[in-house]
Amino acid sequence: MSIYRKVQAVEKVFKALEKELASFKNGTGLNCLSGCGLCCLNPNITATPLEFLPFAYELHKNGLAYQWLEDVQSSETSTCKILRPMLSEGETGFCSQYQYRGLICRLFGFAASRNKMSQLELATCKTIKAEFPEQYQTAKDLIKDGGKVPIMTDFYHQLRAIDTELGRQLMPINDAIEEALKVVLSYYAYRKPYRRRA
Ligand code: SF4
Repeated sequence: MSIYRKVQAVEKVFKALEKELASFKNGTGLNCLSGCGLCCLNPNITATPLEFLPFAYELHKNGLAYQWLEDVQSSETSTCKILRPMLSEGETGFCSQYQYRGLICRLFGFAASRNKMSQLELATCKTIKAEFPEQYQTAKDLIKDGGKVPIMTDFYHQLRAIDTELGRQLMPINDAIEEALKVVLSYYAYRKPYRRRA
């Protein structure tokens, strides 16, 4: 499958997830605390290269892939390289590439994973639990009653079905971004870019 097709396939998974997330958030009232961004400061976020393929593709299209690759490779921090350290006027979120954020960034807070007993549990943060206790309880009840919640492993399986190699290995988030950039750069090293997007 070409890189272009893979990017399209990943974006399709993201689109389906956004639908499920919207329905889950509407049904429970659960949301992020406005202007928070604390979860992005976690230095231990892991991701697969495939979930950052749309980001890498977009950077390459705009002639920014080499610059980003250098930046990611020279980074001395394990905090996500896409994170804005602080907000300037007019900026509303700490993710500088919100549209192209990874699968984990979309799932965390509002998706469920299975515990040791194979029961679904909401994977969310302390801030959400503390700031929205009623909504958190509603979400827990909904999951317990078998209501619909995005399930992390389901979405990772969908990614893996697109590219077994790039969608399988979880690694530190900056390594995943670096791998995605390398894949796109090497793919286009001897090929003409790009197909126009609709
Ligand atoms: S890609 Fe964006 S949302 Fe994901 S960890 Fe980095 S800054 Fe946060």
